Order: sequence, then C-alpha cells, then structure tokens
Amino acid sequence: MSENKMDMLQALFKRRGFVYPGSELYGGVANTYDYGPVGTELLRNIKNLWWKVFVQKRDDIVGLDASLISHHKIWEASGHVAGFADALVDCKSCRTRIRADHLIEDYLEKIDEQRLKNEIAELHLIDHEKRNIIVSTKKVEGLSPKEMEIVVQHFKIPCPNCAEFNWTVVRKFNQLFPVQLGIVEGEQGSAYLRGETAQGIFVDFDNIVNSNRVRLPFGVAQIGKSFRNEITLGNSVFRTIEFEQGEIEYFFNPEKNDWKKLFDDWKDLMWKFITDDLGVRSENLRWREHSDEERSFYSKKTEDLEYNFPFGFKELWGLAYRTDYDLKQHSTYSGKELAIVDPETFEKVVPHVIEPAVGINRLFLMILSDAYHEDGERVVLKLSPRLAPYKVAVFPLLKNKPELVEKAKEVYVHLKDSIGGVVVWDDRGNIGKRYLSQDEIGTPFCVTVDFDTLENDTVTIRDRDTANQERVQVDKLSEYITKKII
Ligand code: ATP
Repeated sequence: MSENKMDMLQALFKRRGFVYPGSELYGGVANTYDYGPVGTELLRNIKNLWWKVFVQKRDDIVGLDASLISHHKIWEASGHVAGFADALVDCKSCRTRIRADHLIEDYLEKIDEQRLKNEIAELHLIDHEKRNIIVSTKKVEGLSPKEMEIVVQHFKIPCPNCAEFNWTVVRKFNQLFPVQLGIVEGEQGSAYLRGETAQGIFVDFDNIVNSNRVRLPFGVAQIGKSFRNEITLGNSVFRTIEFEQGEIEYFFNPEKNDWKKLFDDWKDLMWKFITDDLGVRSENLRWREHSDEERSFYSKKTEDLEYNFPFGFKELWGLAYRTDYDLKQHSTYSGKELAIVDPETFEKVVPHVIEPAVGINRLFLMILSDAYHEDGERVVLKLSPRLAPYKVAVFPLLKNKPELVEKAKEVYVHLKDSIGGVVVWDDRGNIGKRYLSQDEIGTPFCVTVDFDTLENDTVTIRDRDTANQERVQVDKLSEYITKKII
C-alpha cells in the first residue's frame, strides 16, 4: 500500500472534503490548496491543541498575532532580501522549472554507493569537505549555484518531466513575495508578505516587554500564515506557497541559562507533543542534525524532527538556536535598542533565542498519513478522538419511521448542545454504509437510535477502531463521549 499511499490519501482528501486543489475552477494555481469542511475542522483542532499546550498551559509563553504584510526593512534586517533564495534550473525543452538541490538529491538517491563515491571524487572544483558530505548524506544544501551546476553537468541529470538533458544555468531566485501598497511608488510603498512568522515576534519584542510582565526566560508564540514562492510541485500540502506556521521564540539570558539544556528540553517537548498529544507513532519519527554547510548562518545548532511521510523522511519541525542575531539586526536597522532589563542585576540583556518552528499543514498531512488504515474494503482514519473533525454521528435506525427519527433528532440536538466538537446527522442508506462513511473521515463514535431506545432510553454507541458496540443510557451519553474526546 505504501507506494501509492499518497495517491490514496489525495483521493480521500478530495472525495471527503479534506483538501481541494486551489482555484481548481479556473485551472488551478500550483502549490495552493483549499481546506474543505472536514479538513478545516481537523486543521482547527490541531492549531487549538498546539496553542493549548504551548501557550495556555504554560506560565512562561505569551501569544502574538502579527500582520502578514510587513515593512520591507524587516526582511532586509533579517537577511531574507539578500539570502532567502533557492537555486533553480529550467528545462529548455519542456520549460519545467525545478529546484537544483531537489533535482540533484532525487538523482543521487537512485545511484549506487560505489558509483556515487567514485564520481563525486572526480569533481575537483568542489571543495573536498563538501564532496565528503555529498557522499555520506546525498544532500547538497551547502553548495553554491556554480557547484550545483557542476554536479548537474557531470551526471548529465535528465529532466524528470521530459527526460531531456537541456538545462539553463543554475541561478538564485528569491522566495519572498513583494507587495506594492497604496498609490505610493518606489521604496516607501514596498512591503513583503511575511516569509516566516518569527520576524513579527522580534519586531514586536519591545512592545511585548513593555506591555506584559514577562521575565527571562520567556517565549512568544504565534500561529499564522507565511508565504514563500516555492516552485517544487507535488506531495499535496507538504510544500505550498501559502502555509501556516506555529513558531515560538524562547528568549533567555545566555549568562544564566545553558542553551544546550534548553535545546534538549525543547526536543523532548516537541517529541511528546507529536506522540502523546497528536497520537502519532514514534517509529515514524527521527531527529536529524544539520551539518555546518546546511545550517543557516545565524544558527549555532539546528535539528529537524522528521516524519516518515509516504514519500520518505522529511522535515516536520525545525529547532534552531538563533542566538541574538535577529534582535541585534533589528536594533541596528531600526536604530532602537532591543533589550530587556534583568530585575536582579538591573543590567540590560540582549536575550538569545531557541526557536521551535513547525508547519501546521505538515502536521495535518502527517496526522492523516499516520491515521490511514485499510482493513479489507474499509478505509479507517484512526485519528486521536481529540483531533477528529467530527466527534459523533447520530443515526435513526430507519429513516421512514417518524418515531425513530424524532427520538434521534432529540439525541442529536442534546449532543450538539453538550459536546465540545462537531456532531453530525446521517440517515442515508443502511447503517453499514453510514459506518463506512464515518470511518473514512475518522469519526470516533456513531450513535444509533433503534426501537429499544423508545422502550428503555438506551442507544448503541459504536467504536470506530474496534467496531464494538455498547448500549448506553441517553442521559449518560454526553459524559461518556466527552471523557474520550478531551
Ligand atoms: P524546507 O527545508 O522543507 O523548505 P525550511 O527549513 O525552509 O523547510 P523553516 O524555515 O525552518 O523551513 O520553517 C519552519 C517550518 O515551516 C518547517 O519545518 C516546515 O514544517 C514549515 N514549512 C516551511 N516551508 C513550508 C512550505 N513551503 N509549505 C508548508 N510548510 C512549510
């Protein structure tokens, strides 16, 4: 199943209203998606849980919701205007545009170890150290466009679309989306859609410190959209040009806190969130540390928590020690000192930060991939009940018996009023079909009102994962379900 699991998932997404291709009616816009009714509920549940765990349950983290449109100087100070660029090549035969690192890495994955070693050894124009990294990791992130060009030319890597070898040179392409504001032409009116949520936190640092009683160490968390002009196609919502990030900047005094300990503590918290809160199996997770070449220049250490997606282990959640780079840059560019006073020593401190940054849409794809099960004809999404888009479906056993329908409506309205989550009604087809339909979208409980209900006020409640049925008193139903979905 795993080979075409992505196809199965994408078909399910469309069929049941998780995700649709963006602007489909007009032929689509590449790398954009819309979330349908069921997907929207799941996305919301993921965000709410993240917010609850990392903001509401903690004393040391506060929230922020910064503007998506932001001053061009922010992105000059952060280094994005100069450096936030992918190396791209275009196929001159079929016009496919592709990231050079992806083209090369996909190709290197397929060739045997010995050949890789021998051939990379011949590329004398690439530094010895970098060549060793390519051989051991099959990654080329630290290579310049010129060096990537050398690899593409050496292996005569064909176009994955048309199989021709007819590339343009490799060149850089900035991923930020510029926006022109109002009627003002030129620099004054130029802004960018934010490329990451993190910068909003640094830019508002002073405002937050002055309007809240925060003391180091403390964090600022934000969930919101970011925009990157990505050109790589495929794999559903894994990589899109508009996506949601959940980022935390955890500020600390490097004189008082050991960054290595904080870093390890964050690693534990992230892992626990995925396994305990989201209910994802730990065998599909692993940590991968960035090499010196791959790591961003401002980071002293970066590790990625990777998930085994149907297309392989890929970055889900990055953890970086960004030092005081961003606050210092914004101090320099704005001319305003960004620091906090230590209440014990009365000294000004420019805090350092550790940053856990996750893609909410990648969490979404991971959760669905992990929950997807085929059981004969039955497709079941074994989602944690707290994440499930719909919590309970209510059925009258027969649609043409008014007394059953009336009683079932009563139960339905009662549950809608008393359960924190979506309750749905279904009276189509037979009970078996209704179960199958709810299993496919991961509804943990189905409640059926039958003739016994009219006699003794009990209903059957059927469990999605075991398919076991139990009889429960109607007045105990809401408590029974609530216990399992929070
Ligand atoms: P990648 O190497 O996959 O492009 P990145 O290292 O550039 O990701 P970060 O800048 O560290 O990503 O962003 C933090 C998180 O945001 C990533 O771990 C990922 O989950 C998510 N993310 C980044 N780019 C995208 C995108 N284009 N679409 C969806 N999620 C994204």
